[in-house]
Amino acid sequence: MAFRIVVDSDLCQGHGVCENEAPELFEVGRDMLAHVLVEQADESQRRAAEAAAKYCPTHAITLVPVL
Ligand code: SF4
Repeated sequence: MAFRIVVDSDLCQGHGVCENEAPELFEVGRDMLAHVLVEQADESQRRAAEAAAKYCPTHAITLVPVL
């Protein structure tokens, strides 16, 4: 199932853990916020997205199913 990746910019502190875990999905910009690089992710990207969400120190990342 496809899913969207949402970063709460109020929680994000720009640590870049997400970018390290899944560089194909996240990029920390000059604004020191994580930006999601894909409109929708697919199952092949779920493991990386879940790792990014799990290890984000501020729990700023949410995976939202696309129905
Ligand atoms: S790991 Fe979390 S806090 Fe750090 S840049 Fe990514 S979303 Fe932001």
